Amino acid sequence: MTDQKAAVRLRQVRKQFGDMTAVDSLDLDIYDGEFFSMLGPSGSGKTTVLRLIGGFELPTSGTIELHGDDVTDKAPFERNVNTVFQDYALFPHMSVLDNVAYGLRVRKVGRKERRERARAALDRVQLGSFADRKPEQLSGGQRQRVAIARALVVEPSVLLLDEPLGALDLKLRREMQVELKELQRSVGITFVFVTHDQEEALTMSDRVGVFNDGTLQQVDTPRGLYTRPNSRFVADFVGTSNLFTAAAASKRYGRSDQFTLRPEQIVFGEPAGAGRSSSAGEVASVAYLGASTHVTVRLDDGTELVVLDRDGGDGIEAGQTVTVSWSDADVVWLPDNAA
Ligand code: ATP
Repeated sequence: MTDQKAAVRLRQVRKQFGDMTAVDSLDLDIYDGEFFSMLGPSGSGKTTVLRLIGGFELPTSGTIELHGDDVTDKAPFERNVNTVFQDYALFPHMSVLDNVAYGLRVRKVGRKERRERARAALDRVQLGSFADRKPEQLSGGQRQRVAIARALVVEPSVLLLDEPLGALDLKLRREMQVELKELQRSVGITFVFVTHDQEEALTMSDRVGVFNDGTLQQVDTPRGLYTRPNSRFVADFVGTSNLFTAAAASKRYGRSDQFTLRPEQIVFGEPAGAGRSSSAGEVASVAYLGASTHVTVRLDDGTELVVLDRDGGDGIEAGQTVTVSWSDADVVWLPDNAA
């Protein structure tokens, strides 16, 4: 994908707040038209990166390009980007239509065109019939959509979204994830989305950048991150990691690096066929999750593994002695022991 055009290009970007380094040595290309998520725990620097792209913060060092233009020192209004904030920031006294048209008014677009474009943007988020309402007469999800329509109406080349679904309840959040992804596909502009929710990032994104402590740990597709985490941090943060220590690995495989296996790669029972490893252990707990059941098994070497049980946990109880096995080909080595 390296030959793709970069909508956003960050080179050696660093941001200090006093003695605090919020973002360090950041090199990142976000491609034109992709849905890119920045994922990481609280304080890892995601929002700071978003604000740097939007021009709300200036980097301490490094450069930022948008579609090949160096915008490092440019003000937010000089960049062809727009931002949707978590609190939506709608004007309470204005109608939904006027809220959406606001950015066009600021840009001195004539009244007729303003209204037409605002209506089209509202239709796009399925709120055409809500144009005359005030924000307080809308639900949380509807307000969210107004905020998105307002950001899209000025036709930015990049839309920045800072945890825009954070205030919604889980069900609505799931619905909005699907809607937002469809919207991005239909408008075709680059979305840069900040979240600390790994499931959300995996569901929506073409690619995800995982941040930890101000640095970018890995950039990959959702599948790539899940199947080929490059560090212990990413293996832990994306999905359930099932980490074997270097000591446990050494005994098993004669190699002193940590490794990881996903819950669905482990099965109960003796190994059937060559190229498989197994271990005895004891069931520590059983978590019934509806569509799946996660069984935590403590192996004889002390490793705790979460196993996806396809039989819904039938006949498995805490305290029971079990054997688990896996294919050696599924082992992901994590030489990056420091992370
Ligand atoms: P969250 O998910 O909680 O929003 P985040 O990953 O977005 O976290 P940032 O908000 O980018 O993290 O913050 C990164 C670090 O920079 C944090 O330690 C934060 O306290 C610090 N920081 C951010 N903005 C400022 C500021 N204006 N002044 C001082 N420190 C700041």
